Amino acid sequence: MSRFWSDIVHTLTPYVPGEQPKVSNLIKLNTNENPFGPSPKVLTALKTEASDLLRLYPDPNASDLKKAIARYYDINENNVFVGNGSDEVLAHTFAGLLKQDKALLFPDISYSFYPVYCGLYEIEPELVPLNGQFEINLDDYHTDNGGIIFPNPNAPTGQVLPLSKIENLLNRNTNSVVVVDEAYIDFGGESAISLVEKFPNLLVIQTFSKSRSLAGLRVGFAVGHPDLIDGLERIKNSFNSYPLDRFAIHGAVAALEDQTYFEQCCNTIIQTRNKVSKQLTELDFEVLPSAANFIFAKHASKNANDIAAQLREKSIIVRHFKQARIEDFLRITIGTERECQALVDALQDILKD
Ligand SMILES: *Cc1c(COP(=O)(O)O)cnc(C)c1O
Repeated sequence: MSRFWSDIVHTLTPYVPGEQPKVSNLIKLNTNENPFGPSPKVLTALKTEASDLLRLYPDPNASDLKKAIARYYDINENNVFVGNGSDEVLAHTFAGLLKQDKALLFPDISYSFYPVYCGLYEIEPELVPLNGQFEINLDDYHTDNGGIIFPNPNAPTGQVLPLSKIENLLNRNTNSVVVVDEAYIDFGGESAISLVEKFPNLLVIQTFSKSRSLAGLRVGFAVGHPDLIDGLERIKNSFNSYPLDRFAIHGAVAALEDQTYFEQCCNTIIQTRNKVSKQLTELDFEVLPSAANFIFAKHASKNANDIAAQLREKSIIVRHFKQARIEDFLRITIGTERECQALVDALQDILKD
């Protein structure tokens, strides 16, 4: 606390990221990173950038990356906005599109950065409860609003909505922006990018951090009508002209060019997820159906915080949220087959007494 702070600083409740431990001998299943490294083509691209080129500013428009994303999704470059991780894209979206007179709707159980941005940009949040099965019910979003945002698949539950339900919402909600945060879409959902042409108020946000193994590079993007993208560009160019450095731009382009590697990684993670889900069910966990690279699971009798602490003693870290409705759940990132078997073995041991 300091008397030199602006008034707003006193009111903020900052986001708390999952732990990044300094020791390397842990099985890290707590922040939904990809257990596989990025494509070798990405590493080659990064080496090219590690040169005298670094004395020059990067392209402020990251045009090579926008073109690559546009090509990948068969859209136009003016439908694409890029940022320093999708968290930055989200921040600019809150400031530039979702800050309205009416409240912003999002699920009560969802990405915990949304309420943080509401605090930073002084947006009124209106939490819409998930149903009894921990699903988003878009019928509950038919109220007057200044915007709607939800992840699909949802975090931290992992449950996915079919595109038809999102299209239903868009047909009825035409007077405010609808943002679909698709951080996990490559692990089992159907992207709403295909609806962007039809709905000028739809913004779809994705990241290279999860399915493309590049959490450390910080690249995210949004796809929407050129007018929405323009609004985001105005915010971005009033904040930081160069949010993506030379490594980020060219590493991300290379990642998009290695489709085979991408599909292999995603398929392996999906297979492992389905196997672990079954194994945990056999250990008396209720596992919510996941379309993401993590599962959300609740044990029939044993306290989630205790399980997390005992896993930690066995050098395995998972995420536990001390939040109403979900305090009995653990969010477990899907690691390699070997890491997940170690998790199952450790749980078997912990639960036997
Ligand atoms: C991980 C995550 C993000 C942020 O991703 P970055 O691109 O690494 O900033 C955004 N939304 C959700 C729902 C996430 O889980």
